Amino acid sequence: MRRVLILGSTGSIGKQALDVVRRLPERLQVVGLATYRDHKTLLAQAAAFGVRMVGLIETVDTALPERISFVGEEGLCAMVQHDEVDIVVVALGGAIALKPTLAALEAGKTVALATKEVLVAAGEVVMRTARCSNAPLLPIDSEHSGAFQAMLAGKQEQVARLILTASGGPFRTRPLETFDSITVEEALKHPNWDMGAKITVDSATMMNKGLEVIEAQHLFGLKLEQVEVLVHPQSIVHALVEFVDGSVIGQLSLPDMRLPIQYALLYPERVDTGLPRLRMEQIGQLTFEAPDLARYPCLKLAYEAARIGGTMPTVLNAANEVAVRAFLKGCIRFTDIPRLVERAMQAHVPMPPTLENVLEADQWARAIALAS
Ligand code: MG
Repeated sequence: MRRVLILGSTGSIGKQALDVVRRLPERLQVVGLATYRDHKTLLAQAAAFGVRMVGLIETVDTALPERISFVGEEGLCAMVQHDEVDIVVVALGGAIALKPTLAALEAGKTVALATKEVLVAAGEVVMRTARCSNAPLLPIDSEHSGAFQAMLAGKQEQVARLILTASGGPFRTRPLETFDSITVEEALKHPNWDMGAKITVDSATMMNKGLEVIEAQHLFGLKLEQVEVLVHPQSIVHALVEFVDGSVIGQLSLPDMRLPIQYALLYPERVDTGLPRLRMEQIGQLTFEAPDLARYPCLKLAYEAARIGGTMPTVLNAANEVAVRAFLKGCIRFTDIPRLVERAMQAHVPMPPTLENVLEADQWARAIALAS
């Protein structure tokens, strides 16, 4: 029996992780749940799964429900290190997930990582921590799970290229001159995946794919030039790994996050839990095209930040979080998102990516992005 703690249990990935646990009662048990501030959903989940360890980052007023045992970032850091925990699912949106992830790895816990901002903001620190404590770090993101699975066909030094696919989002064919008038509602309509608001907007700008490129670089120890992106509107092929001999191994499945979640929670085992199956004859066609960087300037910015390195990816990520939030609130236009991120990057002098510098750059970029 593996004992699972879910950080971000009230979000889209968290809820799907609970569904996976529900399908595997003899293999998985939830022992802890935490979220940002939605304590009502959190307590309902805790009651449904008989969970005693409950954590909340932001407490609402002073009327803290007595059943919340861990509070704030520090509370979450203590929670993930608890003896009863084997696997920590990290699915809290944003850089707030960084410290609890490091705490879990330091304690030698298996981390199933969905929050890409963790590796984007502090990839070197996180990977070093995982190596030092020999803690397994498994990706939950569909592309990285696909890459992880495909890579098992060869050795790491035999990988020539990793290709991450992107659906292209809802604006793949929309005329560029109409991008200024994109509404929040339009940006939240993803063609294939059902996800939270932040990541759905990131998919529309393709910042999501840019963050995934940086994440993949760290996770698989690849050079930036080895990680490429292809637009694949059907979202069936999640990643393609090309080996040095030219053989390409891909991972295919229906766009359903429960599969990569289940794979990470059970790794290296595979079990039939009755998830919907891929029928290629029903899909009919798989198409691929190179991404148009004029349409997706955020992807270009992400490659630039990765090339510069140091704390620049941290700034890219933090400025993007602020920009997307402003767009969702109706304060800025869709096309202002890359502008705001670019301005923060231009104003930043990159530093070596130590934890201290990363946290400082993160705060700096948020303040700069908010001010512009
Ligand atoms: Mg993804």
